[in-house]
Amino acid sequence: MKHKIEGFLDLVRQRNGLEPEFLQAVEEVAETVIPYIVQHDIYHGKNILLRMVEPERAVMFRVNWVDDSGEIQVNRGYRIQMNSAIGPYKGGLRFHPTVNMSILKFLAFEQVFKNSLTTLPMGGGKGGSDFDPKGKSDNEIMRFCHAFMSELFRHIGPNTDIPAGDIGVGGREIGFLFGMYKKLKNEFTGVLTGKGVTWGGSLIRPEATGYGTVYFAQKMLQTKGNDIKGKTVTISGSGNVAQFAAEKVLQLGGKVITLSDSSGYIVDDNGIDEEKLAYVMDLKNNKRGRISAYVEAYPSARFFPNKTPWGELCDIALPCATQNELDESDAKTLLDNGCVCVSEGANMPSTKEAIVLFQRAKILFAPGKASNAGGVATSGLEMTQNSLRYNWTRKEVDDKLKEIMGNIHDKCIKYGKDEKTGYIDYVKGANIAGFVKVADAMLAQGVV
Ligand code: GLU
Repeated sequence: MKHKIEGFLDLVRQRNGLEPEFLQAVEEVAETVIPYIVQHDIYHGKNILLRMVEPERAVMFRVNWVDDSGEIQVNRGYRIQMNSAIGPYKGGLRFHPTVNMSILKFLAFEQVFKNSLTTLPMGGGKGGSDFDPKGKSDNEIMRFCHAFMSELFRHIGPNTDIPAGDIGVGGREIGFLFGMYKKLKNEFTGVLTGKGVTWGGSLIRPEATGYGTVYFAQKMLQTKGNDIKGKTVTISGSGNVAQFAAEKVLQLGGKVITLSDSSGYIVDDNGIDEEKLAYVMDLKNNKRGRISAYVEAYPSARFFPNKTPWGELCDIALPCATQNELDESDAKTLLDNGCVCVSEGANMPSTKEAIVLFQRAKILFAPGKASNAGGVATSGLEMTQNSLRYNWTRKEVDDKLKEIMGNIHDKCIKYGKDEKTGYIDYVKGANIAGFVKVADAMLAQGVV
């Protein structure tokens, strides 16, 4: 088996040698999916996984825009259309200086499995730009988004490819992107998700990724007769995912003690309650400030520059910032400190070595493609509402989100539970369940 996996990975490495994050994502999938393929004749000789690691299409384009001082800026735009076997390409746009082909291909690859797990008919894609929104004025953001969409519009559509947000792309950016698409196409369609509720957006979409991550943690804890109530939770990040993960933990009776951003983390031993969280939301979403400001507002809290929160004592850790933010030594510290559950809100936040340690210690560990799928699932619900030209209530959407997270958990058990020991390998379960649906559709559609 090792030989088969290495043989496959060697091929992928030859073609994508300069794309470390993409290779990392493929390795994790190959190690669990190839043994499954070997046991199931229908997939033999079809090169399914080899087809799945190659984007169906990848576009890269120039984005020119003029900044507030009148200078012409040049950025790079991308859209990776990874797999459309079970539905139109679907996945977010990331605006961050670290964006490149490797990052977007890893995200698009993960998205294929994640979207498959949601039970909704969505293929996988991802896009974005190396544009840095930090410190830019609203007008600069608008001009950049308009320039970006003036090329992207020809590659997407409500039945072709439906982008949404990711790091650096929230409600404000989706608005500007939607406005330019509508102008160029002269069509009001559900071509983007994460829209404002008065113009086609869905209730609960902003909350969905964070809420879903906590619903998933709750499901995992229930398998041990445990729950979130009374637990101490460390959260990284302070953007959309982290904010609503914190909100849901509080609603379920847990205590949140940390948040972070790229400048460092804050720890509040008294707990970040609803009022303090409202302060963070205003700081991050309206003032676009740094998390260090928290300790000026709440002096009993402490700020640690350039550090992640994984050294703090906790029962549950929710990494909600970015890829590879939690490494082997962080995992060791978390385990030494008695952490029993890690539910990933970000995409691939734990390194491969960290995951090995979590699994060896047999704690509850959920990979992002399962635990953070609530965001894109609710995007799928937004698409359904757009097609129906109808809006569901908050409760209707939240109930569907809970049901979807429960379904994903069930599938992880189906494909990831070791019947002898009872241990649930959520990485294996998510990878195989995500793979089966896409692979079966690809087999049915032939070599296209
Ligand atoms: N960027 C989010 C993710 O990683 C959401 C994508 C979407 O809603 O299309 O799943």
